[in-house]
Amino acid sequence: PLPDAPDYLQRLNPEQRMAIETTDGPLLVLAGAGTGKTRVLTTRFAHILLSGRARPYQILAVTFTNKAAREMRERIGTLLGEPVEGLWLGTFHALCARMLRRHAEYVGLSSGFTILDTDDQLRLLKQVIEPLRIDSKRWPPQGILGVIQRWKDRGLTPERVTPAEDCDFADGRCRAIYASYQARLVQLNACDFGDLMLHVTEILRTRPDVLAQYHRLFRYILVDEYQDTNTIQYLWLRLLAQREGQQSNICCVGDDDQSIYSWRGAEVENILRFERDFPGAAIVRLERNYRSTAQILGAASGLIAHNDGRLGKTLRPGRDDASGEKVRVASVWDSDDEARLVGEEVERLRAGGHRMSEIAILVRAGFQTRAFEERLIALGLPYRVVGGLRFYERAEIRDALAYMRVLNQPADDLAFERIVNVPRRGIGAVAMQKFHQAARDAGIPLTAAIGTMLERGEIKGKARDSLAALLNNLAQGREALPREGHVVVVDRLLEESGYIDMWKADTSIEAPGRLDNLKELVRALADFDSLGHFLEHVALVMENEESAGAERLSIMTLHGAKGLEFDTVFLPGWEEGVFPSQRTLDEGGLKGLEEERRLAYVGITRARHRAIISHAASRRIYGNWQSAMPSRFIEELPDEYVTTTGAASQTRSRGLGQAPVFSSAFPVTARRPRATDSADKGESRSGTALTVGTRVFHQKFGYGTVSSVEGNRLDVAFDKAGSKRLLDSFVEKAP
Ligand code: ATP
Ligand code: MG
Repeated sequence: PLPDAPDYLQRLNPEQRMAIETTDGPLLVLAGAGTGKTRVLTTRFAHILLSGRARPYQILAVTFTNKAAREMRERIGTLLGEPVEGLWLGTFHALCARMLRRHAEYVGLSSGFTILDTDDQLRLLKQVIEPLRIDSKRWPPQGILGVIQRWKDRGLTPERVTPAEDCDFADGRCRAIYASYQARLVQLNACDFGDLMLHVTEILRTRPDVLAQYHRLFRYILVDEYQDTNTIQYLWLRLLAQREGQQSNICCVGDDDQSIYSWRGAEVENILRFERDFPGAAIVRLERNYRSTAQILGAASGLIAHNDGRLGKTLRPGRDDASGEKVRVASVWDSDDEARLVGEEVERLRAGGHRMSEIAILVRAGFQTRAFEERLIALGLPYRVVGGLRFYERAEIRDALAYMRVLNQPADDLAFERIVNVPRRGIGAVAMQKFHQAARDAGIPLTAAIGTMLERGEIKGKARDSLAALLNNLAQGREALPREGHVVVVDRLLEESGYIDMWKADTSIEAPGRLDNLKELVRALADFDSLGHFLEHVALVMENEESAGAERLSIMTLHGAKGLEFDTVFLPGWEEGVFPSQRTLDEGGLKGLEEERRLAYVGITRARHRAIISHAASRRIYGNWQSAMPSRFIEELPDEYVTTTGAASQTRSRGLGQAPVFSSAFPVTARRPRATDSADKGESRSGTALTVGTRVFHQKFGYGTVSSVEGNRLDVAFDKAGSKRLLDSFVEKAP
């Protein structure tokens, strides 16, 4: 470092300093995870201020999340030694909302406009399509909303959508619907989330005076996580940065290997376009990773090397500590074992003085959080689900629980009210009032009152048929409970009531995740011997208030963890069909798989000191056990940076010998995949039934007696080898 450099530049490497001190002209920082891109951006912000190049409000800084914006604001405050006010620092949406308030009149709004949430959006869209008589089964409103959203992501106002682009959806009427929807929004003095960017970009495109105003205002533009910008964000940036007769002082930092939002319209090609749009752009590459140990970095680099078409970057460990722990790959029996393992490890770390806030569990899909939440609650370990709701608080789970509550207890009016019109059964507010009145007058529960009204012919039309069907489903389910068991009955109720179909018809981005959550809920149900016990358990779990302010461990999705870092990172569920996700596998393309691999890379590179990957040998589907393949990403990790626990060495060399091993020795036998179609539900294995007391033979452990059976999972007391837990397919009935 130069002796005369100010303090805040002292501890940076030469490339970082270059990226900070090259203040004028376009600059692209292209660098791998943990190389200090965000730090460069923050320091650059401070440097521009401290060197007198601009006032705080003359810098536009874009972050990917509000959390990142907060952190950057704090870091800048620290660097400057005082908090700064009036910054244009935030997410694309936050910045656009602020701009739109200033110029709302150009798009027919007034500055007090409201921003609609998804529910309002949908309600409004339904009003718009109602008179068009569109078959809502075939073209669900959510789907139309999705088409509109994607157009907005691409910067297309209704006028800019060409007839050729009006897709087949809704028989080519989407464009017209889009136009009326936008018109309705204006009438209501409202806009949706996508409009924030769309309107502002349109204003900048069509009002040179406004654009010139911002060109004068923003002397410098800084953008983090540039690889995940979508088309409209890119257009917006380019409009603001390309100033006639002046240099574009735009600095973008990004990593093509961490592009993980293409499903939301992000285009990694924006990185490649940068040099074209900003001629003479300087490109700085940072190669030293200051976050992770050499072991973690080696594992992550080896993994991402399996992707084709990368821009190519070098990533070297910043510290010479070959002493770090290797990345651990633990093979566990099932998701409960996985949660137990993580729980034990967290307790151990906590006892060793590690801070809870420095530990994260990063999941691929929301449904995975349930097992960990329950385990952590049981152990009394404080946690938070970052960027999402706790499992039992999610809307679809609450709905399904309400169905279960009414099934369990017909007098549960609160629960009934939640589900009576979910899915839509044609029951309006007036009808609901009548039901309430009848129930109050007779002093009976809602379900009973409605039953009586149905009998007397007091309910008409669609509501009559749909309510009769619902009450019938509930009554039949209740009656079947002792005979068929709660898992089967609840599963059927959710199907027959149309609740599952409601989400299947939903084409929004969240819908598949909700369906997975519902499956996980039914799975959890199998752990309890009755519906009543399960509901009681949930009530107790929900009671467990989050302790405010306490040091908490973070559970979040891999997507949500971008840009963050933790001492210890748990990466559970690395199995084919979970990660990479089943959807990616079904689609089959290489593109999807490479994006999943980038997500895995993001996951591992969040860790400073410890990364623990786990995969379960079996997952339970409807009380039955299905064997699971370890994720291909596990095999792709270079051996020298990885240590495996249990018989994972066999697991890592895929093919034969994938014995699930955790806590005790399990047999090493060729896997026999099990069919798990719905016909398999609730049954144990076909063929010879193994029941408690059956004598069995195992290739390695010899003879033994079955001591308990749960689905296709057995406990066997072996005569010589002691007690073992295993899949029934590993043993045969003794002759
Ligand atoms: P990601 O790609 O994950 O967003 P990044 O490139 O933005 O990572 P930062 O988060 O800025 O990386 O930095 C990673 C870690 O390395 C941070 O803890 C940061 O403080 C530290 N760091 C960055 N540069 C240096 C340096 N020159 N010396 C010491 N530590 C550094
Ligand atoms: Mg960063």
